[in-house]
Amino acid sequence: MNISAQRDSSATNTALSVKAYAAQSPTSPLAPYSFERRAVGLKDVLIEIEYSGICHSDIHQVRDEWGGSIFPMVPGHEILGTVRSVGSKVSKFKVGDVVGVGCMVDSCRTCGSCKDGLEQYCETGFVPTYNGLEKDKKTPTQGGYSTHIVTEEDFVLRIPAGLDKAGAAPLLCAGITTYSPMRYVGLGKGHKIAVLGLGGLGHMAVKLAASFGAEVSVLSGSASKEVDAKRLGASHFILTKEKTEVAKYQNHFDFILDTVAAKHNLNQALDLLKREGTLIMVGASHEPLDLGVFSLIMKRRKMMGSLIGGIKETQEMLDHCGKHKIVSDIELISASQINEAYERMIKGQVKYRFVIDAKTF
Ligand code: NAP
Ligand code: ZN
Ligand code: ZN
Repeated sequence: MNISAQRDSSATNTALSVKAYAAQSPTSPLAPYSFERRAVGLKDVLIEIEYSGICHSDIHQVRDEWGGSIFPMVPGHEILGTVRSVGSKVSKFKVGDVVGVGCMVDSCRTCGSCKDGLEQYCETGFVPTYNGLEKDKKTPTQGGYSTHIVTEEDFVLRIPAGLDKAGAAPLLCAGITTYSPMRYVGLGKGHKIAVLGLGGLGHMAVKLAASFGAEVSVLSGSASKEVDAKRLGASHFILTKEKTEVAKYQNHFDFILDTVAAKHNLNQALDLLKREGTLIMVGASHEPLDLGVFSLIMKRRKMMGSLIGGIKETQEMLDHCGKHKIVSDIELISASQINEAYERMIKGQVKYRFVIDAKTF
């Protein structure tokens, strides 16, 4: 079906053919692909995608680093666009609204976690935006590297007016993934937090932590990021390979938010925590990390993990960003640059989120 014809049509009771970029296997580059989105159901919203962020989780999954990847795979879970059609039972959105979709498109909605608004911890597993199966356990989900998406309204977010649209797309994953654990631990004025790894998640963490009133430091492997770290809101920049510099911050931080995407030294970070300080893991290295337990034992330090954030909290984060005018620092690319962007992210050379212009699919 012709896409532009569909945009103006209220008759969306047929599947919609969309343009996308997909990986066909863990070793093939992403390439143009087309597939069908389901017809708009009673509670569904049809979104014309304008911007789609690139998360390092896209790379992990495209390359099957976490295992169990489903191909062909259309990645993308930082989706921003405009509502073009709504089902007859939709009450929260109307045609023309600017909306987003993050990492989840459904969940069981009945378990304790779902009832607590923590759909990301759904006890039967949430339905991921891509690289997963719909609740029928048969239909693969496909993500935001595409021109349109059809999503149930309960998993659609409202984008506050006044935010740059391309810069707001990464809030749907990088924003909520860093917002949620910092809120959970009650980060605020009087706290010292270090963000480990200044990439997509890391730079959002710096902006958000500063907006909560905390004193923020950046622990980075890249000397070239010092000026940016300070511009983003950090008071201190610590180069992780400068051992004497790092040693000055022993027992210093209340929290460290670890966003590193690969194997790295956990003990170096733990030693920088105060007594009872917490290392928060959000970076998702597929290789196990070495932990010397004495780094925990000697100062009663803690470690925790955190996965994205629930729908209610994602909306709260977006509203917070609307109020404080917080968006991601982005480099806008065309679809044909996705593979090159992946290579640059692996080298830590993203400043600080690649966002795909959906007009180029
Ligand atoms: P990114 O933009 O590529 O940034 C990662 C940063 O980590 C890099 O910029 C670099 O910062 C540092 N880094 C990368 N490789 C490294 C290495 N080998 N050794 C040391 N440092 C390295 O990635 P992202 O999109 O922010 O994602 C970060 C991680 O979080 C990924 O593993 C992703 O899958 C995960 N993630 C988790 C969740 C969750 O819910 N928990 C959600 C989204 C993403 P410096 O140059 O400053 O060192
Ligand atoms: Zn992500
Ligand atoms: Zn559930």
